[in-house]
Amino acid sequence: MADTNLMPIPGHIDPVPVPRPDLVEGVTPRADGRLDLMGLPRRRIAELFAQAGLDAKQARLRAKQVFHWLYHRGVTEFEAMTDIAKTMRPWLAERFVIGRPEIVEAQHSTDGTRKWLLRTADGHDFEMVFIPDADRGTLCVSSQVGCTLNCRFCHTGTMRLVRNLTAGEIVGQVMLARDALGEWPKGGGTMAGLDEEEDEGSYSSDGRLLTNIVMMGMGEPLYNFDNVRDALALVMDGDGLALSKRRITLSTSGVVPLMARCGEEIGVNLAVSLHAVTKEVRDEIVPINRKFGIEELLQACADYPGASNARRITFEYVMLKDKNDSDKDARELVRLIRKYKLPAKVNLIPFNPWPGAPYECSSPERIRRFSDIVFEAGISAPVRTPRGRDIDAACGQLKTAAEKKSRAELDRLYAEKQAALG
Ligand code: SAH
Ligand code: SF4
Repeated sequence: MADTNLMPIPGHIDPVPVPRPDLVEGVTPRADGRLDLMGLPRRRIAELFAQAGLDAKQARLRAKQVFHWLYHRGVTEFEAMTDIAKTMRPWLAERFVIGRPEIVEAQHSTDGTRKWLLRTADGHDFEMVFIPDADRGTLCVSSQVGCTLNCRFCHTGTMRLVRNLTAGEIVGQVMLARDALGEWPKGGGTMAGLDEEEDEGSYSSDGRLLTNIVMMGMGEPLYNFDNVRDALALVMDGDGLALSKRRITLSTSGVVPLMARCGEEIGVNLAVSLHAVTKEVRDEIVPINRKFGIEELLQACADYPGASNARRITFEYVMLKDKNDSDKDARELVRLIRKYKLPAKVNLIPFNPWPGAPYECSSPERIRRFSDIVFEAGISAPVRTPRGRDIDAACGQLKTAAEKKSRAELDRLYAEKQAALG
């Protein structure tokens, strides 16, 4: 296995990878020694250009130009940067690259959903999913390889191998999706490694396929805070990918101490994986609850900067048969949302089973009834339609990269991670 900073499991649940001495700050590691600019802000690009020998003014100017080509135009070759002197382009190419995660496999579901298995330069696999709808196209982005938490219904939580994705690997997913959907402004973008066929079609009113981003792939984004923040800054930069913060949602299992910073420093919409309304059940299925309880979590939601009736907090609630799906649970959910006066909507997610999973999905009638109770209290409670089931593509259950485990192994891993949570 590749030599990277893996997070210890079990261990403390706030992993911070120690940088290797040979790594340049913020740069995704590469075997050929060239520096990958993907994921870097203008300032860092200028610093690296200056370190490579440009004077400060030149470095700043070139960084501004390269930044635009990189994130706004989707160019992957310095040769295509027409406003940079012809002699300068090979100089850049000798020292720098514009990377993308490697595509190991691309799958296309019968319902239009696409899933990509991606690989980091140092050999870790992770996944990304694109879900087209009538009026939007949502990209589900991963923040970590695996997850240090172990929600009992989540397949990612059964993976042992965990490393934070770099900002470049995170924004690189969005770049790849734009490559695949052929959505760079004219004259930009190379289609390296992608099918010509993929560059087709449009269905949304403004002709855009990729309109929304959800941080709901593998991993807990708030446990990779800095890289997620830096990547999303590039996604939201007007001269970068230029996507509005209103179209980006970050989903957390409830890392309470970082939620305020998420609102202040990232500023995107918040989704919270609530999944249960009693301590007993949430302790079992979302073990981080043992550290940060429901009341604390809901208070942090009430305090979330930027939340309003126009920008509601989404509560995700996975429907598990006989576990969290009773009428009483639904009424308690309503009570809690009212108690904290939360501008909330509830997203009911039919549980998607995986081999060895210790739960079953609630019946459609049960889910309907649960939804009705919440809805009758004046809170929107749509049931998420499973998408891309034929290619196992639904958000939050990405699993191609996970090894298959026996039930006994799962129990052991669960006990280990539970113990680590204290
Ligand atoms: N770690 C973050 C974001 C990734 S998970 C979080 O937990 O919020 C994205 C969503 O998918 C979460 O709400 C998660 O609870 C849900 N999910 C995970 N496994 C699932 C499964 N097997 N079926 C349905 N939803 C699942
Ligand atoms: Fe991690 Fe989210 Fe899965 Fe929980 S649901 S194990 S926090 S990815």
